[in-house]
Amino acid sequence: MDNNTRYLNIIKKLNLQEENSISEALKKKGLYSASETFPLSAIHFELTYRCNAFCRHCYNNSGVGEDVVSPDNWIEFSNYLVSKGGVFECLLSGGEPFILGDKLFEIMDIFHEDGSIFMLMSNGSLITENIAERLKKYRYHWLQLSIDGPDEEYHDWFRNCKGLWKKAINAAKVLSKREIPLKIACCITPYNLEKTKLMFMLAKDLGASSIIVGEVSLSGRTNANRDFLLSDEQREKLWDLVGEAKASYGGSMLIKTSNKVKRGLEKHSENPRSCVVIRPNGDIRIDGMAPFVIGNILRDDFESVWNDKIDSCWQDERVRQFISGFNDDDRNFEYVNFYDKDIYLK
Ligand code: SF4
Repeated sequence: MDNNTRYLNIIKKLNLQEENSISEALKKKGLYSASETFPLSAIHFELTYRCNAFCRHCYNNSGVGEDVVSPDNWIEFSNYLVSKGGVFECLLSGGEPFILGDKLFEIMDIFHEDGSIFMLMSNGSLITENIAERLKKYRYHWLQLSIDGPDEEYHDWFRNCKGLWKKAINAAKVLSKREIPLKIACCITPYNLEKTKLMFMLAKDLGASSIIVGEVSLSGRTNANRDFLLSDEQREKLWDLVGEAKASYGGSMLIKTSNKVKRGLEKHSENPRSCVVIRPNGDIRIDGMAPFVIGNILRDDFESVWNDKIDSCWQDERVRQFISGFNDDDRNFEYVNFYDKDIYLK
């Protein structure tokens, strides 16, 4: 990044877990302008389709398909982005990103040395003491682990992976022991709603700095498991439980709720340059929750695609229709994300 030393001096004084205040501070200091291409505000790499779980709700249907972008392709693309001016925030997910082994750390090192702040999403299965030790050096908004309940039976069933809960709990402990900002993500369905309160307690015991709870979205494998979707009554119950938790945990653990999909897409369309997703097949997707592709990093020059399409794509009639197709329950049954085929916007 240009102004790298100045940038590092500024973020050193900030609490990196306060995501919104960071970008505001950078804008104020003139280090970030949405009208310039680089540094990018944020980028999301879905590093692999591969996952050692096969969750019944998986929003992006991971565990299906072969990766087209190899770990070395990711390294090359990361170097390309940094050579162009870098990225402030880098979100890494999959599938399960730790399946990449040492290559994950190579990718992180490229961004880390350029000053990027990470958000990392994992199911926790591969995070050992040794891995946690290696993760200590990076800057994070958060490192997110999925834990869907206070007991292993439900979690392992929901995620289709025996022994996963125990591994995720161990991962949470080894991360929080090293003061890596741990965020627990808990998907709420009718089957674990009653355990939400216990889940807040568990997250606190595990030393999480935040927990995000939210209902499962109609996306990916949830389309075949629609019984995971909450009713109005169940949603109200969840909001009550979240309200109570916010009151009782105060500032000791941040309690967050997942955004409504439609509102998230509307906000993204107002700020198209805020983020883009790169998929394991190289597709440049406009949003994880919107099935529209504007190019491919293995075929196209990313900077040209960004400059030519990133603003206009959100005005495409098909994108507008997709967003307006969400009903009052925040579900689009006409075109299901990661179930129906992605649409290439020329
Ligand atoms: S939800 Fe996460 S852990 Fe589960 S299959 Fe999808 S990527 Fe893997």
